[in-house]
Amino acid sequence: MSQAASTFRRTKIVATLGPATESEAMLEHLIRAGVDVIRLNMAHARHDWTRTVIRRIRAASLRAEREVAIMMDIKGPEIRTGDVAVPLALKAGEIFDFTVRPGSSGISGEEVRSVDVNYQGLVHDIQVGDEVLVDNGLLRLEVLEKNDARIRCRVVIPGELKSRRHINLPGVKVNLPSFTEKDRADATVGLEEGIDFIALSFVREAADIELLRAFLEEKRSKVRIIAKIEDQSAISNLAAIIAGCDGLMVARGDLGIECPFEELPVIQRRAVRECLAQGRPVIVATHMLESMITQPVPTRAEITDVANAVYELADCVMLSGETTIGKYPLECVRMLDAISRRIEREAAETWTEPTVGTGDRMKVLKSAVVLANQIPDAKLVTFTRHGFMAQGLALLRPARAPILAFTPSLAVLRQLRLLRAVDPIQLVFASDPNETIESALALLKRTGRVDSGDKVVIATDIVASDRLVDSVQLRTIR
Ligand code: PEP
Repeated sequence: MSQAASTFRRTKIVATLGPATESEAMLEHLIRAGVDVIRLNMAHARHDWTRTVIRRIRAASLRAEREVAIMMDIKGPEIRTGDVAVPLALKAGEIFDFTVRPGSSGISGEEVRSVDVNYQGLVHDIQVGDEVLVDNGLLRLEVLEKNDARIRCRVVIPGELKSRRHINLPGVKVNLPSFTEKDRADATVGLEEGIDFIALSFVREAADIELLRAFLEEKRSKVRIIAKIEDQSAISNLAAIIAGCDGLMVARGDLGIECPFEELPVIQRRAVRECLAQGRPVIVATHMLESMITQPVPTRAEITDVANAVYELADCVMLSGETTIGKYPLECVRMLDAISRRIEREAAETWTEPTVGTGDRMKVLKSAVVLANQIPDAKLVTFTRHGFMAQGLALLRPARAPILAFTPSLAVLRQLRLLRAVDPIQLVFASDPNETIESALALLKRTGRVDSGDKVVIATDIVASDRLVDSVQLRTIR
């Protein structure tokens, strides 16, 4: 068996960029350590910073000789508190106002402390008795009464309120547009700089994705849309959202606030299964190695959490705070890498065949995967101009074989970074398909991905007499 096959990781790693990782040197280390996709969280990003880091990622990829994908995460319909001059210590039982018109607190002459919120319509969407969760649920309030200017609440779980904190409203249907003016401005910068994916936050129904899709079409962009599911409406509309997006992110940070916590593992498992059934890549995100923000080793529970995502056959696991502000970003990547490889070896032993797709092409690809599964240490090889062949093979979740996916397009290569078990490689295709296969096999040998005697299963749709002919071939490397 070649060295490369024994060290191949199938599960992909998404890392969020921040102060801990934005330097040129650290970016190169992350890419060399195996990060596949770099995420930019636009909640915290200025446009000049965004342009600078995107160019830096591309330069670091060139130095590391490994192209990675860039995912811009736009904020969607987010509700935030305004500024407070100093943090407010809110006490249990205290009466507190959220004002939608500045200066409208203390209407009835009472001295009630307050903070502005950035969404006027909140007074119409929220009802007496609803819960308001602030700052990742650290502060919890209950709505007592409301008028056009403010929402009056009682503090249930006390804590400190700082400036511009995120507000969650479990079970409340918020009528904010899903793709905001800020999102449009952020996405425009991203497209100008050549990003590969846009992650849309707080997708509540499939129609939310259409606004972004229309914007991308207007810009003639091939950027793929990742829908982030973060609240109860998304769970109710899960199947339709998955059908409407190009990939899903199980955003467990907000989901864990918006839904009962014991539902979280159930939602994750269902979302991953539904993505597998519908043929969409899926990312499991947030708090995977949270304790490593400050500690060099993870908790035992975190190790098991990462392992679960790998056992569930997710395409990607994601780091957020661990790589934005954490003290050990590289160690986190190495940890995900080590856990994924170990669990993948284990899972290959108990592999069960996924049932994906009914079309003719999927049947041909399936025969390639069945063949590769029968041959110890076989590798799958495919040729893909738009990424579809590689995506089809990835969806069939081959038990052990890596999917060595050749494409002439750098943009497609970067997007293939998201897919489980796909190792994307750039190659100029010759007009003669056999010549393309021969040069691909030579490249695989040169780069140590295969050795003499290795078996490769080639799945390709070659052009013969102007017709596309699907073929599956078994070859032995000379
Ligand atoms: C999440 O809530 O888990 C998440 C990934 O979203 P964000 O980091 O944008 O809050």
